[in-house]
Amino acid sequence: MHLTSMVPAAYIIAAVLFILALAGLSRHETARMGNVAGMLGMFIAVGGVITEAVTTAPRGFWVTSLLIGSAMLIGAVIGTWRARTVEMTGMPQLIAMLHSFVGLAAVLVGFNSFLAAGTEGGVAHLIEVFAGVLIGAYTLTGSLVAFGKLSGRLTSKPLMIPGRNMVNLAIVVVCVALGVWFVLVPGLLPLALMTVLGLALGWHMVASIGGGDMPVVVSMLNSYSGWAAAAAGFMLGNDLLIVTGALVGSSGAILSYLMCQAMNRSFVSVILGGFGEGTTTSSGQAREYGDYHETTAADVARELTDAKSVVITPGYGMAVAQAQYPVADLAQKLRDRGVQVRFGIHPVAGRLPGHMNVLLAEAKVPYDIVLEMDEINEDFDDTDVVLVIGANDTVNPAALDEPDSPIAGMPVLEVWKAKEVVVFKRSMNPGYAGVQNPLFFRDNSEMLFGDAKERVQDIIAAL
Ligand code: NDP
Repeated sequence: MHLTSMVPAAYIIAAVLFILALAGLSRHETARMGNVAGMLGMFIAVGGVITEAVTTAPRGFWVTSLLIGSAMLIGAVIGTWRARTVEMTGMPQLIAMLHSFVGLAAVLVGFNSFLAAGTEGGVAHLIEVFAGVLIGAYTLTGSLVAFGKLSGRLTSKPLMIPGRNMVNLAIVVVCVALGVWFVLVPGLLPLALMTVLGLALGWHMVASIGGGDMPVVVSMLNSYSGWAAAAAGFMLGNDLLIVTGALVGSSGAILSYLMCQAMNRSFVSVILGGFGEGTTTSSGQAREYGDYHETTAADVARELTDAKSVVITPGYGMAVAQAQYPVADLAQKLRDRGVQVRFGIHPVAGRLPGHMNVLLAEAKVPYDIVLEMDEINEDFDDTDVVLVIGANDTVNPAALDEPDSPIAGMPVLEVWKAKEVVVFKRSMNPGYAGVQNPLFFRDNSEMLFGDAKERVQDIIAAL
């Protein structure tokens, strides 16, 4: 049997494995199996693509093999180096950067496809090229701005150009007009003009979004990168790329929907680029909340010794401090003494969907004591001590109490309902959304300053 005839079968198997990967990744217990299925699927997919390319290549088997081999070698060296050196805290910006590559690839494939095939594929092909380049250009700059914001190279404050929604609308209208021009009189000029506008739109949309709304943006860009890949699949006539792109695009869209629910934002307004609307105009007037109380590790150890029920709510600071191992150790020690210990995870805690779950799984915290925000919120009334480990925005009562706050309306972990709340952080600085947290000034709150990992180790020593 000719090798090429096996390629469609390989693509089908790879597509099924990708679906199994997504299904597996949706639960802790099956995540490892999901990863294995994804890797196997990608292995088969790459094998299929290479087989197809080298056996049907106009340049001949050896030249094409050499070109593909060189590209793969360069990619593998850079990929291995980055994967080995990246810190867990650097993952969000790395992922944003990878999304931008998908966008860039879609733009390049679009231009190449138009230059190589011209009008051969008819109107359908021209529309594919135009849509693919537009989504790709938007994803490219949007992801680069997200990379800048997540890595702290760009401010997380929203850029507020007057009439920004009208600017976005005008760009979209001009792009549609350019699309009509491109289909009626195919040429590089309308394509290039639209690319510039697409790049500007991606940059402006993401630059206009405040820190608190970034989770939705990250998952939306994830979805857009999938659609950009699917568009590239149409342009290249590669069925597997279409299927894979559609899987990433639609799963990213579902994740964005869940993120919107978690943040109490309208999904439709996010899709239309109206994110952050009305929430970012006031950056939360500087309010006077009174004084905060400072505590010590020894005092916290005493409180924990007397407690019957403890909830730990981790946030981005736990990732920065790499405190998950001592935190897991502390939880186990308390459980050994008969204390009920549970973890409460906010859906947007950290800088990545599932960030805290990954860290806790890494430290072997049993899954059954890791609860979602909705599951734990009603139990805070009956909790003796809450340990807030490097979380800030996700435990901010201003989201519920202050309608003019930039995070107003976002559901939060209602930790202040517990008898005692201990907040682990290094200073009184605000969280990612840039808003002060009135929790720190409540009568039942105590601040334990310093690096979260060191402070937790101090508590373990004192216990
Ligand atoms: P925040 O970013 O609100 O706060 C983290 C806190 O950790 C800071 O107040 C910081 O205070 C403290 N911290 C940092 N380093 C340390 C350390 N070494 N030891 C102890 N404390 C430390 O975290 P949350 O997880 O509560 O909220 C997540 C925020 O990120 C939300 O605004 C969310 O919208 C946003 N976001 C989430 C994404 C996601 O997908 N999950 C993606 C993008 C943004 P200090 O400096 O004083 O120590």
